[in-house]
Amino acid sequence: MIAVLKQGVTRKKVEELCRWLEGYGVSANPIFGKETVIIGLVGDTSAIDPEEVQANEWVEKVTRVAEPYKKANRKFHPEDTIVKVNGMKIGGNKLCIIAGPCSVESEEQIIELAKLVKESGANFLRGGAFKPRTSPYAFQGLRAEGLMYLKKAKEITGLPTVSEITNLVYLDLFMEYVDIIQVGARNMQNFELLKELGRVKKPVLLKRGFANTIEELLMSAEYLINGGNSEVILCERGIRTFETATRNTFDVSAIPILKHKTHLPVLADPSHASGWAYLVEPLSKAAIAAGADGLVIEVHSDPQHAKSDGQQSVTPMAFAEMMARLRPVAKAVEREL
Ligand code: PEP
Ligand code: MN
Repeated sequence: MIAVLKQGVTRKKVEELCRWLEGYGVSANPIFGKETVIIGLVGDTSAIDPEEVQANEWVEKVTRVAEPYKKANRKFHPEDTIVKVNGMKIGGNKLCIIAGPCSVESEEQIIELAKLVKESGANFLRGGAFKPRTSPYAFQGLRAEGLMYLKKAKEITGLPTVSEITNLVYLDLFMEYVDIIQVGARNMQNFELLKELGRVKKPVLLKRGFANTIEELLMSAEYLINGGNSEVILCERGIRTFETATRNTFDVSAIPILKHKTHLPVLADPSHASGWAYLVEPLSKAAIAAGADGLVIEVHSDPQHAKSDGQQSVTPMAFAEMMARLRPVAKAVEREL
């Protein structure tokens, strides 16, 4: 349930209203927007009579929120959430481009790639260190060493970093070495992981599971926000369908649907969505046109010899060319790149 308050309400009055509403046994969450103040009620609101709340002199309107996600719901928070990382904004008018290899393979590799993607306009560096691989015989990542190299690349280029966590045992390492913690598709519903990440002060990039609905993605975001971490960035990275021409099926409609249903920033990952380097550019264009707040792109200097996901990795040169062609698309939808 949400109560939209009247213009001019004071903070003191909002606090009083919250205390009164909490008397019904629910939690009251005030959201101070640029124009309006909303109190979002979470819990069993069935005992609350909307008319009684409506009767308060400072309440403009009361509505029930039917969706199971509340704090992630745009009805709770009509304005876009902008996540700020190292002075960079994710969710604003400027698109966020996270680029880098699937896996950090060596110190030289990640530093070289960081410099190249930065030159082409990337504003974040990605690199997996703990890799969730289907095969136990495949490269598992450089682990802690990989995170250290990623941090070195940040120190040299200034690009903030993103890397995936697969086990809470390593949380301290992530807190120290990366700027955004990624929760990968395979862990989107690892609720214990989400609960712990809800307690930290570090943005989380939450990728949609390949067999998960949009609502399930939003419920996972709800775990993070409810735990106290509202710096959540969502990512559409393709879902499993009967189609085999692509690694996954890029659900482009998820982007405007998410933008409609939630205030959180929404990114797209055309690399994992398609599985093929030649599809990364057209899907990036589609994502930007559909309203994505940014992209996650895998870049590798020698894709044929990449330790993971070479087939879907673009070269630094292809990345540079693609970025130049994405600019007019961004401009057409009034976004900056
Ligand atoms: C990745 O970003 O390297 C990754 C493993 O992605 P996903 O979780 O979307 O498969
Ligand atoms: Mn990958």
